Amino acid sequence: MNIQPIDITILHLNIPTPTGNSPIYPVMLRDEDGITLVDTGMIGQFAELQSALEEAGTNLHELKRIIITHQDIDHIGNLGALVKAVPDVEIWAHADEIPYLQGKLPLIKFTPERRAMLAPPTLELAEQLLSELPTLPIARILEDGDMLPLQGGIQVIHTPGHTPGHICLYFREKQFLLAADELRVVDDELVGPAPPATPDMPEALRSLKRLIGLKIDTVLCYHGGEYTQAASERVAELAELGE
Ligand SMILES: [Zn+2]
Repeated sequence: MNIQPIDITILHLNIPTPTGNSPIYPVMLRDEDGITLVDTGMIGQFAELQSALEEAGTNLHELKRIIITHQDIDHIGNLGALVKAVPDVEIWAHADEIPYLQGKLPLIKFTPERRAMLAPPTLELAEQLLSELPTLPIARILEDGDMLPLQGGIQVIHTPGHTPGHICLYFREKQFLLAADELRVVDDELVGPAPPATPDMPEALRSLKRLIGLKIDTVLCYHGGEYTQAASERVAELAELGE
């Protein structure tokens, strides 16, 4: 049997905000055929992302694919720049997110009003990203239940609500749940998605139920980082609270 190494590196980027830095956690996976990046950071963070990859012992030339958990700009912010730097990189995302990632539907939260609040150079970078969306090389369209041939098997769990095609990724061998924005860690506690950023909160809460029964050692939240205290139990509790 071909045993693949399990090598998950959590990257750490900071989004500057008026009230201080807001940390976010893209993930780098090393498999035999190269590096997979899960989410890409905020618009304008390409240099930080590149340094984080270098600190983690890799570089853009090893980048084989990018899995996008959902369309929000703090997740897709450097997609255009990455594709420019690594033209043969593959992009994988859920079917329900593809029309947005390809620019066929407008990003649901990155409205013209929101864009108007940006200052240069972020504004230009945002406009550039939007113009690049139709050319992105979407190589694999993910569906709920797909078992990705990475890290000994990663299960795709469709968790709509925060966005239509939001996904969580469950790493079976390591019992590691990459929750993206379906869960957050706030004041050391695992909580559900952020209501102001979740257009369909009832759906997002229903999606939590899809995580019940997973054996989870660690949950990684894009906002809030790692959570390791009886994570399976806490996820079940949250799913029930959301009823
Ligand atoms: Zn986010």
